[in-house]
Formats: sequence, C-alpha cells, structure tokens
Amino acid sequence: MQTLIYETRPNPSKGGVQDMASMSRRGVEGVSAVAKVVTVNELASPLNVQIPMEVPTSRHRFLDYFRGFEKVEAVRETFGEESDRVLEGLQVEFFGSKLGYMGVSDEDGYLLASADYLKNGNWRDIYLDVVHELVHVRQFKEGKELFDESFEYVDRPTELQAYRHTVKEARRLGMTDDEISDYLKVT
Ligand SMILES: [Zn+2]
Repeated sequence: MQTLIYETRPNPSKGGVQDMASMSRRGVEGVSAVAKVVTVNELASPLNVQIPMEVPTSRHRFLDYFRGFEKVEAVRETFGEESDRVLEGLQVEFFGSKLGYMGVSDEDGYLLASADYLKNGNWRDIYLDVVHELVHVRQFKEGKELFDESFEYVDRPTELQAYRHTVKEARRLGMTDDEISDYLKVT
C-alpha cells in the first residue's frame, strides 16, 4: 500500500473561470488522442508547453501529457544535465479524487495529478505546480525525505526549496507580488 501525500495549496478555481473559457477556445485539436491540450503563450515570457485538460485516471509517461516541459528553462535548471534522462523516464499518475492537486509519490518518485484539478484549475497555477513538483522529483532522486513530519508543511526544507524555485519562475512570467501571494496562499 503506497502512501499518497498531496500538496496543500491555493484554491485553484480562483480567477480560473475566464482563463479556462478562453483556453478552451484556443484548445489545440488533434495533438493528442486522449487529452485536450493547450498552449500557454500569452505571458510576458511565452511558454510553449501543453497542459492536458482531459485525462484518463491511470499512469502515463509524463512527457506524453505535459509536452514541452523538457524545454522549460526552470525545469532544466532543476535537473541540470540529467534533464532529458529524468524527464524521459518520469511517469505521471492521474487520480480521480477531488482531494488534492498535485504531488509526488514518496514511494517511487513519480508525479501525481488530480484529473479534476487539470480540468478545472487555472493553467498558470497548474504550470507552476508542475515546476514545483519537479523539484520534489529531483529531491526524491537525491534520497531526500520529501515529507519529513518533524517539520510543518511550510517549514519543511524540501518545500522551501520547491517554493523558492517556483516563485522565481512566477516572477519570470511577469506575475505581480499580489498574484504570487494569491498563488502561495495555503488554504
Ligand atoms: Zn511541495
């Protein structure tokens, strides 16, 4: 029996409705047979990544659903020379429960993502969550204990490192301090 621990984090629906509506209209047809895919390209620094909206609740190759993340500088910074090798081998499991957003399995270091969150969440939050979770993927590979219960969530060294990296990326995207603090607000 594996332990699944989900991140506690901001309310994903906040400000997301309009984004999702306009995103659907721009949805790219035919890129994937199983996922509606969007290209996030309206930011200060355009991103050419695709974030799936409709996913089956099963386990898959990460790059089959999150296309383009292997080219994101913030991700390459996380894994360095190992980037291609790690991302090629990374798996993601989509789960159906409405509890939780995204996380990393402390059993074998794969990514966990809520199908409901992908469908209803704000794409920018989801993008930043992926950047955040990939830091945990690296930490897991380094043998760090991801969910050290001797720390509160916000004080846990693995979380501090992941949030620092995510905030840096949020700034690069041109997010304001208010937007970043909304994103970081733990509910
Ligand atoms: Zn985290």
